[in-house]
Amino acid sequence: MAIESYNPYTGRVLRRFRAFSWAKTERILAQAHRAAAEWRTTSFAHRARLMHRAAALLRERQDELARLMALEMGKPIADGRAEVLKCALTCDYYAEHAEQFLADEEIKTEAQRSFIAHEPIGVVLAVMPWNFPFWQVVRFAAPALMAGNVGLLKHASNVPQCALALEQVLHDAGFPPATFRTLLISSDLVGRLIEDDRVRAVTLTGSEPAGAEVAATAGRAIKKTVLELGGSDAFVVLADADVALAAKTAAQARMINAGQSCIAAKRFIVEKPIIREFIAQMKTHLLALRTGDPLEETTQFGPLARPDLADELTQQVEDSVRQGAKVELYGGQSKPGTALFRPMMLSNVKPGQRAYSEELFGPVALILEAQDADDAIRLANDSRFGLGAAIWTKSAQRGEELARRIEAGAVFVNSLVKSSPEMPFGGVKKSGYGRELSHLGIKEFVNQKSIWVG
Ligand code: NDP
Repeated sequence: MAIESYNPYTGRVLRRFRAFSWAKTERILAQAHRAAAEWRTTSFAHRARLMHRAAALLRERQDELARLMALEMGKPIADGRAEVLKCALTCDYYAEHAEQFLADEEIKTEAQRSFIAHEPIGVVLAVMPWNFPFWQVVRFAAPALMAGNVGLLKHASNVPQCALALEQVLHDAGFPPATFRTLLISSDLVGRLIEDDRVRAVTLTGSEPAGAEVAATAGRAIKKTVLELGGSDAFVVLADADVALAAKTAAQARMINAGQSCIAAKRFIVEKPIIREFIAQMKTHLLALRTGDPLEETTQFGPLARPDLADELTQQVEDSVRQGAKVELYGGQSKPGTALFRPMMLSNVKPGQRAYSEELFGPVALILEAQDADDAIRLANDSRFGLGAAIWTKSAQRGEELARRIEAGAVFVNSLVKSSPEMPFGGVKKSGYGRELSHLGIKEFVNQKSIWVG
């Protein structure tokens, strides 16, 4: 794939970048490797000062960075600002908590003293997607740098300007340049980097095929990976739920980032007695959303990030309808090869249809009818994915009990599924493994070393 900024709203190429050669990539890797030896010796206080400065710069540059996202991948400007502010919050969070998270952990044994030390591992490669061009990276970079690791970023080929802007933020904050570098490389060079002994671990957020390939290469090289892949998350609405609030949140949850979010609710599993009411109300909310130029303040959803993603989504919808799904809300692409995709809703989604088994990465809500709560849980779990589910019921206790039965990395009761710095984030099944954020995220890429003093 060419490394270029392409505006999905106007269809114009904004900038093209020459991909780094292996020689240049290798030079940067060598610098990163040398920097890792130095960086690991710095104090938490020093790292925290720089990380707080990065947070301040993100806040200062929120308009500029949001504009880049609007231009490169169609995110509405207001949502872009919110993303940048969340990045700033996460930088502050790890600046404040990293030292405590990575403090020695005393363990009682027969030894005079025994404890777990958490030590940096060196260069970590991050392969990242375009849907949250800043958030996905900061979620990795803030804990990695605070832990004393250094980062190399291979960002998605359609968001090079975002990738460079984030690198600039970290450099301007005072991080030594070689501790965080953006590599403008195609995915062909990723395998070679992983095989290099100087790269110690890899984290990838993206599609299943990309995750499988990267993890296979890392496996052969005996390197740890964290994978955050797709989802087709359940949003379960039981008969006793507040239907009005559930339907309003459902529309919001499906439309996060024009539906291009791994944790966006995708399968709406609704108990039979309330299904018509739920569909009618959710439809009203979807129809009320304003689309338009992502640079306009009033735009609520923009185009998909690339026309090929919209073409693929159209194909999934058409195949599913041919296989028996019913269109409840007409929308979709106005013509092939364009990125704008209006919200759609499909009901009668059943096994054997693509919509039942695949992730639909865009604004298409799938409605599944459940006979009762047990049936709803069965349907929720009948998926190869398991990232962030939601369950709606008036009884918080029932919600908690059912939440434990859902196979997912997270379950939210009567609430919109979202990530936050304090809570672990990640999946089960084909949604991936490992955790980001929280105290668990920062411990993924450290050597948890046992020290025994006899
Ligand atoms: P990809 O998984 O192809 O891209 C994600 C990142 O992985 C990019 O940096 C990409 O680089 C890189 N990559 C792709 N293939 C390889 C490979 N074989 N080896 C190493 N790196 C690789 O996502 P797409 O952009 O193609 O989107 C397709 C689908 O992926 C979506 O429809 C959605 O289902 C899923 N997805 C999930 C995301 C999530 O948040 N979990 C985010 C984005 C997509 P390059 O851009 O150069 O190809």
